[in-house]
Amino acid sequence: MAESRKTFRAGDAKARVSRAAWAAALPPADLETERSGSGVTPSMAQFLKIKAAHPDCLLFYRMGDFYELFFQDAIAAAEALGIVLTKRGKHLGEDIPMCGVPIHRADEYLHRLIKQGFRVAVCEQLEDPAQARRRGAKAVVQRDVVRVVTPGTLTEDSLLDARTRNYLTAICCLPHAVGADRRIAHASLEISTGACEIGEVSAADFAGDLMRLSPSEVIASDQALAESALRKCLDNCTAAITPVPAASFDSLAGERLLKQQLAVADLAAFGAFSRAELAAAGALLKYVELTQLGQKVPLGVPRRSGPEERLLIDAATRSSLELLRSRSGEKQGSLLGAIDRTLTGAGARELASRLAGPLRDPAQIAARLDVVGFLSERDPLREDLRRALRSAPDIARALARLALQRGGPRDLAAVRDGLVSARDCADLIEAAAAAVGLPLNLSAIVRSLSACSAGLAEQLAAALADELPHHRRDGGFVRQGFRAELDEARCLRDGNRQMLAELEAKYVAETAVKSLRVRHNNILGFYLEAPAGSAKPLLSEPLAQRFKHRQTMAGAVRFTTEELIETESLIVSAAERALALEQEIFNELTAAIDCEHARLGGLAAALAELDCEASLAELAAEQGYTRPVLDENSTFDIRGGRHPVVEQALQAANAGSFIANDCVLVPGTAAVPEGFAALSEARLWLVTGPNMAGKSTFLRQNALITVMAQMGSFVPARAAQIGIVDRLFSRVGAADDLARGRSTFMVEMVETAAILNQASERSLVIFDEIGRGTATYDGLSIAWAVVEFLHAVSKCRGLFATHYHELTVLAGRLGDIANVTMDVKEWRDEIIFLHKVRPGAADRSYGIQVATLAGLPKAVTKRATQVLALLENGERKGANGEALLSDLPLFAAARTQAPPPDEMAALARALAEVNPDELTPKSALDTLYKLKALVDKDPP
Ligand code: ADP
Ligand code: MG
Repeated sequence: MAESRKTFRAGDAKARVSRAAWAAALPPADLETERSGSGVTPSMAQFLKIKAAHPDCLLFYRMGDFYELFFQDAIAAAEALGIVLTKRGKHLGEDIPMCGVPIHRADEYLHRLIKQGFRVAVCEQLEDPAQARRRGAKAVVQRDVVRVVTPGTLTEDSLLDARTRNYLTAICCLPHAVGADRRIAHASLEISTGACEIGEVSAADFAGDLMRLSPSEVIASDQALAESALRKCLDNCTAAITPVPAASFDSLAGERLLKQQLAVADLAAFGAFSRAELAAAGALLKYVELTQLGQKVPLGVPRRSGPEERLLIDAATRSSLELLRSRSGEKQGSLLGAIDRTLTGAGARELASRLAGPLRDPAQIAARLDVVGFLSERDPLREDLRRALRSAPDIARALARLALQRGGPRDLAAVRDGLVSARDCADLIEAAAAAVGLPLNLSAIVRSLSACSAGLAEQLAAALADELPHHRRDGGFVRQGFRAELDEARCLRDGNRQMLAELEAKYVAETAVKSLRVRHNNILGFYLEAPAGSAKPLLSEPLAQRFKHRQTMAGAVRFTTEELIETESLIVSAAERALALEQEIFNELTAAIDCEHARLGGLAAALAELDCEASLAELAAEQGYTRPVLDENSTFDIRGGRHPVVEQALQAANAGSFIANDCVLVPGTAAVPEGFAALSEARLWLVTGPNMAGKSTFLRQNALITVMAQMGSFVPARAAQIGIVDRLFSRVGAADDLARGRSTFMVEMVETAAILNQASERSLVIFDEIGRGTATYDGLSIAWAVVEFLHAVSKCRGLFATHYHELTVLAGRLGDIANVTMDVKEWRDEIIFLHKVRPGAADRSYGIQVATLAGLPKAVTKRATQVLALLENGERKGANGEALLSDLPLFAAARTQAPPPDEMAALARALAEVNPDELTPKSALDTLYKLKALVDKDPP
């Protein structure tokens, strides 16, 4: 039971309670004895046996047109779904709770149950009830579970998000390795497309890599789950966690299963897998086998994803930079939300995966940028391609369903239409290539798009009808004229319907019962019906000979005849034959698709890639992005950089334009911008300036530009030259993490420690107001030491925003640290933010001006000004600030103080000009307003 509870990870508290209660009250072990004992009906025995084999699942038990749930399953499901709980029969003297969902709405209910953390075993009838009856009156219809549905094993479009990848990930940490050397292996499979990825990272990098994979279900051994470090990583991801026996993590079995499913004798072609990686793959494939009950899962070529190939981004940085999701967990407001212009689900998945795992090899990145560049320069080509892509179906998911025997006619159509889109795109690109040749990656895409034989496209186009039903069992999806036999059977079936009409007319004429009609229902089949009042002649001789009485209803009497029975059997057998022929054709088409499976998979991937590249090109053209230059130097030179998300938010709100800024940590080939020459030796910029001046925005935009550049996208800048970054870190001081029960300062320090331990010379580090979570002197001291460490030990490139002006003296002492500040303009008592980075340090923090802007009561800001003046005065004179403060009159006293002297003078002057005898009531009132305004002096 404890195990069942552990598997539950849904966020919904109510669901948590109900699922836990359900798990605790699973049919007890005594079912075993029940089964063999007497007093249990055969159908109950069948149910209990199947349920006992799937104790951790809700059992969807197929009965006719419903999936029924019984016992605790029914109670839990009724609560989780808000459906009626009823009862049916008795077990051990007690009512059996029951609820049910109709077959045609099963997907919708499955979806809701999976979302709430349940697993569902789907039990089907394996034979027709008629077949069972033939075995004897008491024979039970054969049933068994055909599939276990879990979050990581979904394949239906209605259960999946089209634009999000759905990984099932197995995690394996070898027990003997400890400490920093410890490595964690992971193997992931998206059953709905066959995408497979296997890799290994250090324990320290695991949390970040898990976030990159962002699986919807994780499987791990109980031992692994008992480890606190791993547990913590898993707690931060939203995946459902399924414990499996440690024995599943068997590297030999993993190797065997991989070879078997990929149909190869040797895995070397896919990379050298470690023991732990093979063990993870073993557990993964074993679990897939168990949940798919033996169906052949389409397994794509496994990609080895080593940390060496990627820009490493840890978990804290990922959420701080809001790469895929914003802080509130939505796509809107994230970098992905701002740059996603893809048109297909597969393209969106590809883009998200590139964004989550940017590259590190300049050549690979340049190859991607070549394609974006090619497409961004050719508006007509790009528009034509995007028009073709818009109608491209999700071939990968259709292929997976077909391979799993779960496909329908519409999946066949997806392959048919996908082949058309692929051909259209290939033709368009080739036409454009004629003059100039193609970038390498684009010609590879064209090759994949054209790899399938034209025969398959023709066969599908010829076979499939225009309007397609959802399910193959309904028939009616094969085009008229595709197969003569089918046309014949259909003709017979429909022609016999015509015969029924003729039969009816004949009977009416012969019997003179004008209201005699041929009708149909599922129990009687076809029958003749006459209203009670006119049925008499049919019930008496001689007509009663031919018209056999079947039923007497309240207002009608029903009959049948030999002819009717014959006609009916002709109709039924023709319909059955037509349906059987259609099923045969379905299987032929599936087999034809299966022959091309690998090529179709490549075609689907190429379409996804093309959509992704074309969307980045569209974005670049729309937003005026430029191609970044990536090299192996330690350059970090961004000219006129912008924040991609803030810029678009300003555009959308029509709130003015974003102010572009340079960031020249290590200059590239271009001349250093004016005023920055003195900083050109610096690797680390200290950014000071008041709150709201744009420090955080500036820091993040440079991190985001790095991510975009290394994923192969153009960037929001006038020019960008970036020496490849190996690790990217971003930390914001005092992140609120109350939910995890850690003090905010503790979090800040844990995260700071991780950076200082991991950052290398190739890394880019962004610290935003570190040390804010503690007392001033503590915070300042820590910030000071961190800057010195980054300078002397890490030697990384970095931006360090701080509100401690004291730090700015470091720039004078350490050669590779420079001060920059966010420009502000003071105007009367007000402060105007120019959002412009310039060399130099802020002289003060303008806290009170910002507070005024925020609408703090005037009395408070005035009072704060007084306190500040005293403190600063005291500091200059070396006096004790506290002593001075204790001399200050209290707030209440200060509040009633007279206005300051300059206001008094102005007031006196204005009063002197007033002659009360000359004032009308209205001008007296105006004068009063004027006088008051002199003292209040609100900012205009
Ligand atoms: P700080 O970190 O200095 O307190 P932020 O970076 O949070 O300041 O910026 C405050 C606000 O100023 C942002 O919400 C943004 O709307 C605006 N802003 C910042 N930088 C710019 C810019 N370069 N151009 C236009 N608006 C900006
Ligand atoms: Mg800030």
